[in-house]
Amino acid sequence: MARLVMKFGGTSVANIERIRNVAAHVRREVEAGYQVAVVVSAMSGKTNELVGWVNECSKFYDAREYDAVVASGEQVTSGLLALTLQEMGLNARSWQGWQIPICTSDAHGSARIESIDPARLDAGFARGEIAVVAGFQGVHEPTGRLTTLGRGGSDTSAVAVAAAIGAERCDIYTDVDGVYTTDPRIVPKARKLDKVSFEEMLEMASLGSKVLQVRSVEIAMVHKVRTFVRSSFDDPANPRPGTLICEEEEIVEQQVVTGIAFSKDEAQITLRRIADKPGVAANIFVPLAEANINVDMIIQVVSGKAENRDATTDLTFTVQAADYERAMDHLRKHKSDIAFEALEGATDVVKISAIGVGMRSHAGVAARAFKALADKGINIRAITTSEIKFSVLIDKDYTELAVRTLHSLFGLDAAA
Ligand code: ASP
Ligand code: MG
Repeated sequence: MARLVMKFGGTSVANIERIRNVAAHVRREVEAGYQVAVVVSAMSGKTNELVGWVNECSKFYDAREYDAVVASGEQVTSGLLALTLQEMGLNARSWQGWQIPICTSDAHGSARIESIDPARLDAGFARGEIAVVAGFQGVHEPTGRLTTLGRGGSDTSAVAVAAAIGAERCDIYTDVDGVYTTDPRIVPKARKLDKVSFEEMLEMASLGSKVLQVRSVEIAMVHKVRTFVRSSFDDPANPRPGTLICEEEEIVEQQVVTGIAFSKDEAQITLRRIADKPGVAANIFVPLAEANINVDMIIQVVSGKAENRDATTDLTFTVQAADYERAMDHLRKHKSDIAFEALEGATDVVKISAIGVGMRSHAGVAARAFKALADKGINIRAITTSEIKFSVLIDKDYTELAVRTLHSLFGLDAAA
């Protein structure tokens, strides 16, 4: 029998009535002949509440106990959905991460899935059971401790379970009906995409689109799991397919740009008049890397001639907003080794990115965007590009204008 993973997010399981609606979606697929594993999130708001309690108890908490607390939200919804399915006369059993087991690293709070043993789920399917799996959680087997996969981690649980049980596809049910060209709250003319490639989805998720956890897309890409993003609020008797995340070859009508993502979770740091000589960049970035601070965009002002030993240069880079204070502190502490004249920072910035596999074969895509932004009087503070995307860092106040400008420029607006 073909197998299917269905994942439901927090808003889809927010109360018992919605859990009944989820159960109706599950029943439809069981009746269609699938062996189904359902992966659930905690009720919406629950994980935030649990995290809040942990912070209230302990400022520098023990991450193992953080996991013990925050994993509980999914334990509740998995049990409730199994009960609801049973009430409908279906055969269902809940599974916590450790029971399967979903084995992870010991990076508590953001553990990585290392392996999933499908034997118990297989045995359950053989007994005719629907498996209801608590998302977001796993176990670090050597210590036997429960772990969680980082915020939004149920997506990753779902795709990883789909790969482990050889599911035909993984349906991610959420409160939107698919993946959009950009956030429809910012651009009302945003369009739902029918298909998007793994690579593009990976960039979109990394660059700020919050539909899927980045790691879930990585796993889908590596294991070629056909993944749909679709709405749990559709009538269970008449659901729409949503957006398929699949291999590039499957997408016939490819646009140059597929989507515009933005992230406000950015901060800019500038070091003024650092020595222009070998080893300076290493002096700056090695300590930041050792402190686990990820650096993203980097720009260095053009260097002088090699023989000009007293030359100085300016260096600008970005970090995640959450790491900003730590990074600034770190740089101040290393002031004497790095030898900069001034340290400047800004958090009122946003990174806007355009993504599309079509960029590989089209020249001048970024240049057109720079021109369009300039025409709107938007100043670009930093730029990065790669094979299938480019990003610009601009003032936060211009977020909407910039996103709308690029969305229209690349022909993504829905027909009026
Ligand atoms: N409940 C967890 C969170 O809120 C995991 C998830 O929903 O994917 O982050
Ligand atoms: Mg989510």
